Amino acid sequence: MRDILLVDMNAFFIMCESRRDRTLLEKPAAVAGDPKYRSGIILAANYEARKFGVKVTMTVNEAVKLCPNLVLVKPDHNYYEKCSKQVFELLYEYTPILEINSIDEAWMDVTNSKKLFGSPIDIAINIQNRLKDEMGLWCSIGVSENKFLAKMASEIKKPLGITQLYKSDIEENLWPMPVRNLYGIGKATSEKLNSYGIKTIGDLAGCELNYLVKKFGKYGLYLYYRSKGVDDDPVAAVDSKNLSCGRMETLAHDITDIRDAKKVMAILTESIARTIRAKQLGGSVVSIQIKYNTFKMINRQMRIEQTNLTKDIYNAACVLLENNWDEDKPVRLLGVTISSLNNNDMQLSLDSEVKDKEQKLENTIDKINDKYGQDIIKRGNIL
Ligand SMILES: [Mg+2]
Repeated sequence: MRDILLVDMNAFFIMCESRRDRTLLEKPAAVAGDPKYRSGIILAANYEARKFGVKVTMTVNEAVKLCPNLVLVKPDHNYYEKCSKQVFELLYEYTPILEINSIDEAWMDVTNSKKLFGSPIDIAINIQNRLKDEMGLWCSIGVSENKFLAKMASEIKKPLGITQLYKSDIEENLWPMPVRNLYGIGKATSEKLNSYGIKTIGDLAGCELNYLVKKFGKYGLYLYYRSKGVDDDPVAAVDSKNLSCGRMETLAHDITDIRDAKKVMAILTESIARTIRAKQLGGSVVSIQIKYNTFKMINRQMRIEQTNLTKDIYNAACVLLENNWDEDKPVRLLGVTISSLNNNDMQLSLDSEVKDKEQKLENTIDKINDKYGQDIIKRGNIL
């Protein structure tokens, strides 16, 4: 059995600010953007402010109404990036197998760290104390046997929680939760599940695999296994050999309509697919990045058959978008990455003849576009 931790920083941006202004610790304080611009919302609130009901994504006006003495600090993302790097440096002392999930959280595989540092719980206590004492930062840690359960565990007690959650505990601790709480389920999926009468994670765990695949495609597999606490995904340490190609785009204005997001994805996937085709590479992991107007960024990925076709990468990106889209959360940046790049070997593919034709077509489009400037020929889905 593996030993996996998920370290999630509590109220990260405002706790970073408290490092350089200790007086913020004793008063309600929040990081908030300029009220005149789109970022006029609360990006992070400390626990003093939360006592008054101040929450992330609330407008500054709403927050001040609830808490008139709220101290507002302008965001300084370069500083948060710096703090984030320091946090991960500390975590690397315990294991090289670290997967950074966002600016304020990472998974750690500590299976082979126990001889040096003690049990997973000992390691978690040690990390939490050191982050607090050495850096003035708080975190919650989930301890489990896989990434999914570690993430779910980390959510259970905040701030400064350390929670164990193993497969043997899920009937009691996971199954009573609404499906919306399952990591990786967005608003759209949870509404769809609710409309089928599937309200709790336990309800989901009672569904047949065939049924879920019929309703949700490949994503049905995810729902089936996660509801049973099963997750074989390895903690994917950053590997310099693991080449990737990605592009991100900050949008002219925040979007909430998934159709707009798909248009942006079409352009981004076209661009990265062209790049890897030119290098005669193919990739098998597609990931998307979504940054919300709160500056929170999520990264979601799926494995596909090796490809360098725009169409394949675009389709995977759309599946990920659909499963993670939440029209209540305005999006300010979108990205797509193809990784696990290798020399493209289409012979490995079962339907290689069809792929061959598509490959030739896409190569031809690339050539024409190279000759006459980009975008002479656009694919239907972009238009
Ligand atoms: Mg987090």
